[in-house]
Amino acid sequence: MKLKRRKAFVVDEQVWKVLSGSKQPVGAYQIANMLPRVAAAQVYRALERLVSTGKAKRIAARNAFVAGSPQTDVIVICRKCGAFEPLECPDAIDELGSHCNKRSFQINQIFLEMTGTCQDCKP
Ligand SMILES: [Zn+2]
Repeated sequence: MKLKRRKAFVVDEQVWKVLSGSKQPVGAYQIANMLPRVAAAQVYRALERLVSTGKAKRIAARNAFVAGSPQTDVIVICRKCGAFEPLECPDAIDELGSHCNKRSFQINQIFLEMTGTCQDCKP
């Protein structure tokens, strides 16, 4: 059991390194291909753990993942080249939360993804 847990930690580290070294969101399948010695199921479990601790964020629009921190509230993604930037916008998030709570919808977590055009792709 102890060994198994350590192995999970190692896989988490490997997956996180792939994410933090990438300039674009990376799909689970892509990550599994980049880590040939790790089973795909292990990659999926590692991603779940990383997302639950906030070390990675899932980008629903791309069905892919990026490295993040628990402080990351917003990810902006370039719809042309896929470049992304994690942002911290605690004031905006607080405001959205209280806006929802006032309308009797209890918010537990807010994470936003916004698409646009990055500096390099601007016409
Ligand atoms: Zn771009």
